[in-house]
Amino acid sequence: MDFDAKNIAAPAVRELAPYVPGKPIEELEREYGVRDSIKLASNENPLGPSPKALAALAAAAGDIWLYPDGSGFGLRAALAKRHGVPGEWITLGNGSNDVLVLLAEAFLTPQSEAVCSEYAFAIYAIAARATGATVRIAPAFPTDHPMAFGHDVEAMARLVNERTRLVYIGNPNNPTGTWIEAGALEAFIASLPAHTIVVVDQAYFEYVEDARYPDAADWLARYPNLVVTRTFSKAFGLAGLRVGYAISHPQVADLLNRVRQPFNVNSLAQAAAIAALEDPAHLERSVAANRAGLVQLAQGFDRLGVRHFPSVANFVLVDCGRPAGAVYEAMLRHGVIVRPLGGYGMPNHLRITVGTTTQNERMLEALQQALAG
Ligand SMILES: *Cc1c(COP(=O)(O)O)cnc(C)c1O
Repeated sequence: MDFDAKNIAAPAVRELAPYVPGKPIEELEREYGVRDSIKLASNENPLGPSPKALAALAAAAGDIWLYPDGSGFGLRAALAKRHGVPGEWITLGNGSNDVLVLLAEAFLTPQSEAVCSEYAFAIYAIAARATGATVRIAPAFPTDHPMAFGHDVEAMARLVNERTRLVYIGNPNNPTGTWIEAGALEAFIASLPAHTIVVVDQAYFEYVEDARYPDAADWLARYPNLVVTRTFSKAFGLAGLRVGYAISHPQVADLLNRVRQPFNVNSLAQAAAIAALEDPAHLERSVAANRAGLVQLAQGFDRLGVRHFPSVANFVLVDCGRPAGAVYEAMLRHGVIVRPLGGYGMPNHLRITVGTTTQNERMLEALQQALAG
């Protein structure tokens, strides 16, 4: 049989390049024969999950033969309370990644368009392009701008037209660590037409401490075309469970619910996420550790003479001043996994997650040796 899956695939899917995740520790140890390696490549919380979330997981384990609550009632109620909105405004996802895809499925067609920024989180364009929609990419701020590589919302606004159905904003954005302050972001949202949904992805919301940084969920009552996404993968330390959510106007939530898999968030994830919300002290410890880690990394990069960019999240963008692929490889041989950004069109840059004090020290040593070698 003359079979070629590519020839029969949806044309838009044929053109996609898959997302490249951070290298798992097991894979590094298998391939390089190193041990005790550390992963600072996927912006996970180095403190791990709340002990309360772990206890809730254990307590829920006996029930995994049952389908989960497909409506996610308990978790949605807890999130509704947290954000001061009705439960109908919350849509749960298998990670917020799931919600970003549901938005594309619900609002995009091959005839419509999405807008995002250069250097924006890769999933936005992948999710949009998979539907056959056209993705327009606005140039980011230049490297001499105070928010180098950041989203230029004025440039993004110029790409919005009568076919634009979705605009994705990473705030803060990954992999750049850049962000948009409240005034500029709200003015951009207010400028958008009613036929355009604006998605403000706040995956790192809990980490951000700058007073000018907005809680975009505060604006939902004013802008029914606004969708805010959040996750339990980052500051809450539950990346492996896959749970995130959108907060939106109930009409938008109703549409997302039509394309959502009925059981997209598993029962263990729902139980652990509820418990994580009930442990603000663990979140505070995580944020404080990250704050200290950001200082430690900035001082370390300065000592090594490595250009680094300001970050309000739990990772830092660095410029190796030379092709970063070889630096990444050399760090792997020292058992330290960071993230190369060639796929983002940043061949000289690495994205490095804030780890524990010890992990940060080890990463800086590996970087120093990689740069010297
Ligand atoms: C990590 C991340 C996400 C999604 O993470 P999930 O684990 O799918 O919730 C979304 N947006 C950005 C910018 C991220 O960095």
